[in-house]
Amino acid sequence: MTARQEDPESMTVANDTTVLVTGAGRGIGEAVATAFAAKSGRVIVTDIDPAGEAVAEAIGAAFVEADLSDMDAVRNLSSRVIADFGPIDILINNAGLQHVSAIDEFPDDMWSRIIQVMLTAPFQLMKAVLPGMKQQGWGRVVNIASVHGLIASPFKGAYIAAKHGLVGLTKTAALEVAAYGVTVNAICPGYVNTALVRNQIADLARIRGIPESEVVERVILEPAAVKRMVEPKEVARMALFLVGPDARSITGSMQVMDGGWTAR
Ligand code: NAD
Repeated sequence: MTARQEDPESMTVANDTTVLVTGAGRGIGEAVATAFAAKSGRVIVTDIDPAGEAVAEAIGAAFVEADLSDMDAVRNLSSRVIADFGPIDILINNAGLQHVSAIDEFPDDMWSRIIQVMLTAPFQLMKAVLPGMKQQGWGRVVNIASVHGLIASPFKGAYIAAKHGLVGLTKTAALEVAAYGVTVNAICPGYVNTALVRNQIADLARIRGIPESEVVERVILEPAAVKRMVEPKEVARMALFLVGPDARSITGSMQVMDGGWTAR
Protein backbone atom coordinates (compact mmCIF):
# COMPACT_ATOMS: atom_id res chain seq x y z
CA MET A 1 0.00 0.00 0.00
CA THR A 2 1.37 3.43 -0.90
CA ALA A 3 1.68 6.43 1.41
CA ARG A 4 -1.10 8.16 -0.46
CA GLN A 5 -3.50 5.25 0.15
CA GLU A 6 -2.68 5.16 3.88
CA ASP A 7 -3.40 8.85 4.40
CA PRO A 8 -6.52 10.07 2.63
CA GLU A 9 -5.77 13.65 3.69
CA SER A 10 -2.56 13.51 1.65
CA MET A 11 -4.62 12.84 -1.48
CA THR A 12 -4.24 16.32 -2.80
CA VAL A 13 -1.66 18.45 -4.57
CA ALA A 14 1.52 18.04 -2.52
CA ASN A 15 4.81 19.58 -3.59
CA ASP A 16 5.94 16.33 -5.22
CA THR A 17 2.71 15.70 -7.14
CA THR A 18 3.41 15.46 -10.87
CA VAL A 19 0.81 17.30 -12.92
CA LEU A 20 0.60 17.32 -16.73
CA VAL A 21 -1.55 20.05 -18.30
CA THR A 22 -2.12 20.08 -22.06
CA GLY A 23 -2.75 23.27 -24.00
CA ALA A 24 -1.34 25.23 -21.08
CA GLY A 25 0.27 27.94 -23.21
CA ARG A 26 -2.68 30.26 -22.68
CA GLY A 27 -6.33 30.45 -21.64
CA ILE A 28 -7.86 27.85 -19.34
CA GLY A 29 -4.80 25.58 -19.50
CA GLU A 30 -2.53 28.42 -18.39
CA ALA A 31 -4.88 29.21 -15.49
CA VAL A 32 -4.99 25.53 -14.47
CA ALA A 33 -1.20 25.13 -14.68
CA THR A 34 -0.76 28.33 -12.67
CA ALA A 35 -3.15 27.16 -9.95
CA PHE A 36 -1.44 23.76 -9.67
CA ALA A 37 2.07 25.25 -9.78
CA ALA A 38 1.20 27.30 -6.71
CA LYS A 39 0.94 23.95 -4.89
CA SER A 40 3.35 21.59 -6.64
CA GLY A 41 6.86 22.06 -7.95
CA ARG A 42 6.31 19.38 -10.59
CA VAL A 43 3.91 20.84 -13.12
CA ILE A 44 4.50 20.11 -16.80
CA VAL A 45 3.08 22.56 -19.30
CA THR A 46 2.66 21.20 -22.81
CA ASP A 47 1.45 23.05 -25.90
CA ILE A 48 1.99 23.21 -29.65
CA ASP A 49 2.66 26.92 -29.14
CA PRO A 50 6.21 27.72 -27.98
CA ALA A 51 4.63 30.54 -25.96
CA GLY A 52 4.02 27.79 -23.39
CA GLU A 53 7.68 28.04 -22.47
CA ALA A 54 7.27 31.57 -21.09
CA VAL A 55 4.18 30.45 -19.15
CA ALA A 56 6.11 27.53 -17.68
CA GLU A 57 9.04 29.74 -16.77
CA ALA A 58 6.78 32.28 -15.06
CA ILE A 59 5.15 29.66 -12.83
CA GLY A 60 8.18 27.43 -12.18
CA ALA A 61 6.93 24.57 -14.36
CA ALA A 62 8.63 22.49 -17.04
CA PHE A 63 7.70 22.95 -20.70
CA VAL A 64 7.42 20.25 -23.35
CA GLU A 65 6.39 21.34 -26.84
CA ALA A 66 4.11 18.84 -28.57
CA ASP A 67 1.54 18.83 -31.36
CA LEU A 68 -1.40 16.76 -30.16
CA SER A 69 -2.82 16.62 -33.70
CA ASP A 70 -0.10 14.04 -34.44
CA MET A 71 -0.67 10.60 -32.86
CA ASP A 72 3.04 9.80 -32.85
CA ALA A 73 3.83 13.13 -31.21
CA VAL A 74 1.35 12.32 -28.43
CA ARG A 75 3.02 8.93 -27.88
CA ASN A 76 6.43 10.63 -27.77
CA LEU A 77 5.10 13.24 -25.34
CA SER A 78 3.80 10.67 -22.86
CA SER A 79 6.88 8.46 -22.99
CA ARG A 80 9.23 11.47 -22.67
CA VAL A 81 7.31 12.96 -19.75
CA ILE A 82 7.08 9.64 -17.88
CA ALA A 83 10.79 8.96 -18.51
CA ASP A 84 11.78 12.42 -17.24
CA PHE A 85 9.31 12.89 -14.36
CA GLY A 86 8.12 9.41 -13.43
CA PRO A 87 4.44 8.46 -13.13
CA ILE A 88 1.95 11.27 -13.74
CA ASP A 89 -0.29 11.79 -10.67
CA ILE A 90 -2.68 14.28 -12.25
CA LEU A 91 -3.52 14.62 -15.95
CA ILE A 92 -5.48 17.63 -17.17
CA ASN A 93 -6.63 17.13 -20.77
CA ASN A 94 -7.32 20.69 -21.85
CA ALA A 95 -5.89 21.46 -25.31
CA GLY A 96 -8.51 22.36 -27.84
CA LEU A 97 -9.47 24.36 -30.88
CA GLN A 98 -12.65 25.43 -32.59
CA HIS A 99 -13.80 25.66 -36.19
CA VAL A 100 -17.14 27.25 -37.00
CA SER A 101 -18.73 25.95 -40.20
CA ALA A 102 -21.85 24.16 -41.42
CA ILE A 103 -21.43 20.37 -41.74
CA ASP A 104 -21.87 20.47 -45.52
CA GLU A 105 -18.93 22.87 -45.78
CA PHE A 106 -16.84 21.48 -42.92
CA PRO A 107 -13.26 20.80 -44.13
CA ASP A 108 -12.30 17.12 -43.71
CA ASP A 109 -8.82 17.97 -42.45
CA MET A 110 -10.23 20.27 -39.77
CA TRP A 111 -12.64 17.53 -38.68
CA SER A 112 -9.72 15.10 -38.30
CA ARG A 113 -7.57 17.64 -36.47
CA ILE A 114 -10.26 18.53 -33.92
CA ILE A 115 -11.15 14.88 -33.23
CA GLN A 116 -7.45 13.99 -32.82
CA VAL A 117 -6.54 16.91 -30.53
CA MET A 118 -9.70 16.89 -28.39
CA LEU A 119 -10.69 13.20 -28.24
CA THR A 120 -7.95 10.88 -29.48
CA ALA A 121 -5.08 12.67 -27.71
CA PRO A 122 -6.89 12.59 -24.33
CA PHE A 123 -7.47 8.84 -24.94
CA GLN A 124 -3.79 8.34 -25.78
CA LEU A 125 -2.63 10.28 -22.71
CA MET A 126 -5.02 8.45 -20.39
CA LYS A 127 -3.84 5.16 -21.86
CA ALA A 128 -0.26 6.18 -21.08
CA VAL A 129 -0.73 7.49 -17.53
CA LEU A 130 -3.45 5.24 -16.08
CA PRO A 131 -1.13 2.22 -15.57
CA GLY A 132 1.15 4.32 -13.30
CA MET A 133 -1.83 5.74 -11.42
CA LYS A 134 -3.31 2.27 -10.90
CA GLN A 135 0.02 0.91 -9.72
CA GLN A 136 0.46 3.64 -7.11
CA GLY A 137 -3.19 3.43 -6.03
CA TRP A 138 -3.94 7.11 -6.66
CA GLY A 139 -4.46 9.33 -9.64
CA ARG A 140 -6.68 12.08 -10.98
CA VAL A 141 -7.74 12.82 -14.54
CA VAL A 142 -9.65 16.00 -15.26
CA ASN A 143 -10.91 16.39 -18.81
CA ILE A 144 -11.82 19.92 -19.83
CA ALA A 145 -14.93 19.13 -21.86
CA SER A 146 -17.65 21.73 -22.41
CA VAL A 147 -21.35 22.37 -22.18
CA HIS A 148 -21.00 21.29 -25.82
CA GLY A 149 -20.21 17.81 -24.50
CA LEU A 150 -23.80 17.70 -23.25
CA ILE A 151 -25.82 19.70 -25.77
CA ALA A 152 -25.31 20.96 -29.31
CA SER A 153 -25.24 24.30 -31.07
CA PRO A 154 -25.19 24.67 -34.86
CA PHE A 155 -21.98 25.07 -36.91
CA LYS A 156 -19.59 23.40 -34.43
CA GLY A 157 -19.96 19.78 -35.55
CA ALA A 158 -16.42 18.53 -34.94
CA TYR A 159 -16.03 20.32 -31.61
CA ILE A 160 -19.37 19.03 -30.33
CA ALA A 161 -18.70 15.49 -31.55
CA ALA A 162 -15.27 15.54 -29.86
CA LYS A 163 -16.65 16.90 -26.57
CA HIS A 164 -19.55 14.42 -26.49
CA GLY A 165 -16.95 11.70 -27.11
CA LEU A 166 -14.75 13.03 -24.31
CA VAL A 167 -17.68 12.94 -21.89
CA GLY A 168 -18.33 9.30 -22.81
CA LEU A 169 -14.66 8.45 -22.48
CA THR A 170 -14.56 10.14 -19.06
CA LYS A 171 -17.44 7.98 -17.80
CA THR A 172 -15.92 4.79 -19.20
CA ALA A 173 -12.48 5.46 -17.74
CA ALA A 174 -14.00 6.34 -14.36
CA LEU A 175 -15.69 2.94 -14.18
CA GLU A 176 -12.53 1.11 -15.22
CA VAL A 177 -10.17 2.66 -12.65
CA ALA A 178 -12.33 3.45 -9.62
CA ALA A 179 -11.15 0.35 -7.78
CA TYR A 180 -7.55 1.61 -7.98
CA GLY A 181 -8.07 4.95 -6.22
CA VAL A 182 -8.17 6.84 -9.49
CA THR A 183 -10.92 9.29 -10.40
CA VAL A 184 -11.75 10.64 -13.85
CA ASN A 185 -14.01 13.66 -14.21
CA ALA A 186 -14.97 16.25 -16.78
CA ILE A 187 -15.56 19.96 -16.40
CA CYS A 188 -18.22 21.34 -18.73
CA PRO A 189 -18.02 25.12 -18.90
CA GLY A 190 -20.25 27.38 -20.93
CA TYR A 191 -18.39 30.26 -22.55
CA VAL A 192 -15.09 31.07 -20.86
CA ASN A 193 -13.37 34.39 -21.37
CA THR A 194 -10.43 33.24 -23.54
CA ALA A 195 -9.01 33.76 -27.03
CA LEU A 196 -10.86 30.64 -28.22
CA VAL A 197 -14.15 32.48 -27.74
CA ARG A 198 -12.90 35.90 -28.80
CA ASN A 199 -11.64 34.39 -32.08
CA GLN A 200 -15.12 33.00 -32.89
CA ILE A 201 -16.88 36.33 -32.76
CA ALA A 202 -16.20 37.31 -36.39
CA ASP A 203 -17.19 33.84 -37.69
CA LEU A 204 -20.38 33.78 -35.64
CA ALA A 205 -21.30 37.28 -36.85
CA ARG A 206 -20.82 36.20 -40.49
CA ILE A 207 -22.74 32.94 -40.16
CA ARG A 208 -25.63 34.46 -38.18
CA GLY A 209 -25.70 37.62 -40.31
CA ILE A 210 -25.42 39.98 -37.33
CA PRO A 211 -22.85 42.65 -36.36
CA GLU A 212 -19.84 41.48 -34.33
CA SER A 213 -20.84 43.88 -31.55
CA GLU A 214 -24.05 41.88 -31.01
CA VAL A 215 -22.49 38.37 -30.96
CA VAL A 216 -21.65 38.28 -27.23
CA GLU A 217 -25.13 39.31 -26.13
CA ARG A 218 -27.27 37.64 -28.82
CA VAL A 219 -25.32 34.41 -29.40
CA ILE A 220 -22.75 33.75 -26.68
CA LEU A 221 -24.68 34.77 -23.57
CA GLU A 222 -28.18 34.29 -24.98
CA PRO A 223 -28.80 30.73 -23.65
CA ALA A 224 -27.30 31.29 -20.19
CA ALA A 225 -29.29 32.53 -17.21
CA VAL A 226 -26.19 34.11 -15.68
CA LYS A 227 -25.15 36.75 -18.22
CA ARG A 228 -21.38 36.61 -17.84
CA MET A 229 -18.57 34.51 -19.23
CA VAL A 230 -16.80 32.10 -16.88
CA GLU A 231 -13.27 33.23 -16.01
CA PRO A 232 -10.39 30.73 -16.61
CA LYS A 233 -9.38 30.82 -12.93
CA GLU A 234 -12.86 29.57 -11.96
CA VAL A 235 -12.30 26.48 -14.10
CA ALA A 236 -8.85 26.09 -12.52
CA ARG A 237 -10.36 26.12 -9.02
CA MET A 238 -12.90 23.47 -10.05
CA ALA A 239 -10.01 21.31 -11.27
CA LEU A 240 -8.23 21.82 -7.94
CA PHE A 241 -11.37 20.76 -6.09
CA LEU A 242 -11.70 17.61 -8.23
CA VAL A 243 -8.22 16.42 -7.28
CA GLY A 244 -8.66 17.23 -3.59
CA PRO A 245 -9.73 15.08 -0.64
CA ASP A 246 -13.35 16.25 -0.64
CA ALA A 247 -13.81 14.92 -4.20
CA ARG A 248 -12.78 11.33 -3.46
CA SER A 249 -16.27 10.06 -4.22
CA ILE A 250 -16.73 12.17 -7.32
CA THR A 251 -15.91 10.22 -10.46
CA GLY A 252 -17.37 9.88 -13.93
CA SER A 253 -19.01 13.24 -13.30
CA MET A 254 -19.63 16.28 -15.46
CA GLN A 255 -19.05 19.46 -13.48
CA VAL A 256 -21.29 21.89 -15.33
CA MET A 257 -20.27 25.57 -15.13
CA ASP A 258 -22.67 27.02 -17.66
CA GLY A 259 -24.57 29.80 -15.92
CA GLY A 260 -27.74 27.73 -16.08
CA TRP A 261 -27.60 27.15 -19.86
CA THR A 262 -28.53 23.45 -19.57
CA ALA A 263 -31.11 24.05 -16.82
CA ARG A 264 -33.70 24.95 -19.46
P1 NAD B 1 -7.35 28.66 -26.07
O1 NAD B 1 -7.46 28.70 -27.54
O2 NAD B 1 -7.15 29.95 -25.34
O3 NAD B 1 -6.21 27.64 -25.60
C1 NAD B 1 -6.12 26.36 -26.17
C2 NAD B 1 -4.69 25.90 -26.09
O4 NAD B 1 -4.62 24.61 -26.73
C3 NAD B 1 -3.73 26.85 -26.82
O5 NAD B 1 -2.61 27.16 -26.01
C4 NAD B 1 -3.34 26.05 -28.04
O6 NAD B 1 -2.02 26.34 -28.53
C5 NAD B 1 -3.47 24.62 -27.53
N1 NAD B 1 -3.58 23.71 -28.65
C6 NAD B 1 -4.39 23.80 -29.72
N2 NAD B 1 -4.10 22.86 -30.62
C7 NAD B 1 -3.09 22.13 -30.11
C8 NAD B 1 -2.33 21.03 -30.59
N3 NAD B 1 -2.52 20.51 -31.81
N4 NAD B 1 -1.37 20.51 -29.79
C9 NAD B 1 -1.13 21.06 -28.58
N5 NAD B 1 -1.78 22.11 -28.08
C10 NAD B 1 -2.75 22.65 -28.85
O7 NAD B 1 -8.69 27.95 -25.57
P2 NAD B 1 -9.36 27.83 -24.13
O8 NAD B 1 -10.62 28.60 -24.19
O9 NAD B 1 -8.40 28.06 -23.06
O10 NAD B 1 -9.80 26.29 -24.19
C11 NAD B 1 -9.16 25.28 -23.44
C12 NAD B 1 -10.09 24.09 -23.37
O11 NAD B 1 -11.31 24.48 -22.75
C13 NAD B 1 -10.47 23.53 -24.74
O12 NAD B 1 -10.52 22.11 -24.69
C14 NAD B 1 -11.84 24.10 -24.95
O13 NAD B 1 -12.60 23.31 -25.82
C15 NAD B 1 -12.38 24.08 -23.55
N6 NAD B 1 -13.51 24.98 -23.36
C16 NAD B 1 -13.39 26.31 -23.63
C17 NAD B 1 -14.49 27.12 -23.48
C18 NAD B 1 -14.45 28.57 -23.78
O14 NAD B 1 -15.52 29.19 -23.84
N7 NAD B 1 -13.28 29.20 -23.91
C19 NAD B 1 -15.71 26.60 -23.02
C20 NAD B 1 -15.78 25.23 -22.74
C21 NAD B 1 -14.68 24.45 -22.92
